Amino acid sequence: MTTHSLLLLPGDGIGPEIMASAGEVIDWFNRRAGGKLFTTETDLVGGAAYDAHGAAISEETMQKALAADAVLFGAVGGPKWDDVPYDVRPEAGLLRLRKDLQLFANLRPAICYAALADASSLKKELVEGLDILIVRELTGGVYFGEPKEIRDLGNGQKRAVDTQVYDTFEIERIARVAFDLARTRRNKVTSSEKRNVMKSGVLWKEVVERVREADYPDVELEHMLADNCGMQLVRRPKQFDVIVCDNLFGDMLSDVAAMLTGSLGMLPSASLGAPDPTTGRRKALYEPVHGSAPDITGTGRANPIAMIASFAMALRYSFGLVEEADLLDKAIATALDSGARTADIAPDGADTVGTEEMTAAIIAAL
Ligand code: ATP
Ligand code: MG
Repeated sequence: MTTHSLLLLPGDGIGPEIMASAGEVIDWFNRRAGGKLFTTETDLVGGAAYDAHGAAISEETMQKALAADAVLFGAVGGPKWDDVPYDVRPEAGLLRLRKDLQLFANLRPAICYAALADASSLKKELVEGLDILIVRELTGGVYFGEPKEIRDLGNGQKRAVDTQVYDTFEIERIARVAFDLARTRRNKVTSSEKRNVMKSGVLWKEVVERVREADYPDVELEHMLADNCGMQLVRRPKQFDVIVCDNLFGDMLSDVAAMLTGSLGMLPSASLGAPDPTTGRRKALYEPVHGSAPDITGTGRANPIAMIASFAMALRYSFGLVEEADLLDKAIATALDSGARTADIAPDGADTVGTEEMTAAIIAAL
């Protein structure tokens, strides 16, 4: 049996509560395999690491992250660390992981579970069965381009400058991720940019088209201006399969897509690096989209689904355990079908369950 190593970084707030749920699911898969399909090690990140070491992530933890087959990350931050110095603030732990593992591709699925279709802000028939994957470029674009500054113009005026920069290789590698993923799904990629006003959009379209012609002629490709894409996501979301876009548009479009599906507590994500030239394995980090939710920490009410679904993404994208991933995704749907609802996804006045009961319902469904 191939053993896969996972570094668990629960972090702060509800992070440890929902990571415990993921741990139960990992244990279940180990029992099912009758051995160590997964080995886990747990370490500190964020405010918890700051309290212990004075840094948001220690060098030792970074080495473990680099060595692990995948990292499962909970959430970091909270009011307790509002006043710590900027360089060691809890969020710096996540940024350091992204940078050192070179995680350039951010995957955000937007899936609408049948049992929750009524809870969407859109009409049920528009979102029922929705299954979109947004692939966002994560290490380039306007977030990092230089110059980036506020200039004093000297006449009481200032000028703010942000610079969008993309090189061919950056667009090429994110396009490959999108096409590869489309092949495992419904074989369609929508590439979104604003070539009508941005040079980076012109190059983006050109490179994505070239990658498809050379290596993915079997995948359907459409180009859609980002503003139109935002509109189409709300108008007729089921037309999409995989959407690939730059860092800024990806940030916005994935939040729009997220709200089609209901609660923050439901949304997983993956961040992937380049494949290792010898093993072919990508560095990867899996985490819920939501934050540390200090307002409900310690109450036992956190929804564990985003964390558990993040582990399902690890099964699928890091370990190639597609059958296991499908099984886990189905178990989440079954638990919801059976009526289990944490407070964040329950209609007002309805009965709710806590983190532990929701986890137990998912494991029972497994
Ligand atoms: P961050 O700055 O880390 O992104 P945030 O302030 O944007 O954090 P969250 O910590 O994600 O937000 O919390 C936003 C709201 O959603 C809070 O009211 C929180 O309780 C709720 N929430 C977030 N995650 C969950 C969850 N897993 N289960 C239930 N409620 C959640
Ligand atoms: Mg937030």
